[in-house]
Amino acid sequence: MDNNKQTNVFDQIESMGHEQLMFFNDNETGLKGIIGIHNTTLGPALGGTRIWKYENEQAAINDVLRLSRGMTFKSSIIGINLGGGKAIIIDNPKAKKNEPFWRRYGKFVENLGGKYITAEDVGTNTQFMEYISMETKHVMGKPFYMGGSGDPSPVTAYGVYLGMKASQKKLTGNDSLTGKKIMVQGVGHVGQYLIELLAKENAEILIADINEDNLKSVTSNYKAEVIDVNNVYNTEMDIYAPCALGATVNDSTIDNLKCSIIAGAANNQLQDELIHGRKLKEKGILYAPDFLINAGGVVNCYTEIDGYSKEKTYGITDNIYQQTIDIFNAADNSEKGTQEVALEIAMERINSIGKIRQVR
Ligand code: NAD
Repeated sequence: MDNNKQTNVFDQIESMGHEQLMFFNDNETGLKGIIGIHNTTLGPALGGTRIWKYENEQAAINDVLRLSRGMTFKSSIIGINLGGGKAIIIDNPKAKKNEPFWRRYGKFVENLGGKYITAEDVGTNTQFMEYISMETKHVMGKPFYMGGSGDPSPVTAYGVYLGMKASQKKLTGNDSLTGKKIMVQGVGHVGQYLIELLAKENAEILIADINEDNLKSVTSNYKAEVIDVNNVYNTEMDIYAPCALGATVNDSTIDNLKCSIIAGAANNQLQDELIHGRKLKEKGILYAPDFLINAGGVVNCYTEIDGYSKEKTYGITDNIYQQTIDIFNAADNSEKGTQEVALEIAMERINSIGKIRQVR
């Protein structure tokens, strides 16, 4: 989606299949944002709230549409009963980001009557979830002491690790990551938990980040080589793990990439899911579908709905390993990319459950 090209919002939600977009504003607190509800066939639309300085309004609309759609497929493929939604808040100079700000936002979430359930995302944390929960019960990812599931990042990292091992297994018949050169691009919450798992397996860890403190936090605890952010795509590696931003696999990076596997946490890693998915296949790079292997975080929130259980969370997340292998195998017999195959499987579940829901 081009952020500089203004598009008719109704055309966009029609083509992407969204059910609802809710714009909200509060002059008192400087709160401005959008809640996107993509599809609620499987259950209430759950997805985090992102607060970000967008370059323009179109960029904010594009982001909420893309992210909420992604949540629909993520919950579907991992087999949980949630729909897809996401919220963005525009980080503007008037945004106070204090208790009244988050509680006012909680009221907007409450107004949707449970059709949308919010959680953490980039720029938000468990403290903000606690403020939101003072105005609505439709919020997950609350702190542990409130009976919540806490930070979802460790579970997300665990799922990504399983997806990486499944990829290695598919490629070589052995899922060991020992000695594999793995580039973790973005060593924030998920990236650092992932490194902890990779270090236990004696992988050779490469890291790149624009945040010096996060780089230091890794190098002071683990053996890891720092790579300049501009050299990520020119570096020889076995596995590329995008754990920062989306759309890093695109026309300008794909030809340079020197890896045999891509498996990471970032949402929407392929700039174009169909074109770039197929191009990776042509290049012989195995792509672990992002919305499957990073689904641990949404599972963590899901199990909070009925009272958080670590066993249930990790039990569901464990399925990522076999599901990743199944998708690779299904893609073997077609020209389709692995992401394309994964999307079809996710859509098939939504369509089939939609049909039985109509039966009384
Ligand atoms: P985070 O904000 O904690 O970490 C992101 C890191 O990426 C930061 O250290 C940041 O400095 C770095 N970064 C930003 N731009 C960069 C660049 N150009 N090059 C290298 N590094 C850069 O976020 P997180 O919670 O760790 O999530 C990472 C990614 O995974 C995000 O795309 C997020 O949407 C996705 N994700 C996260 C979860 C979760 O449970 N936290 C779940 C699913 C998906």
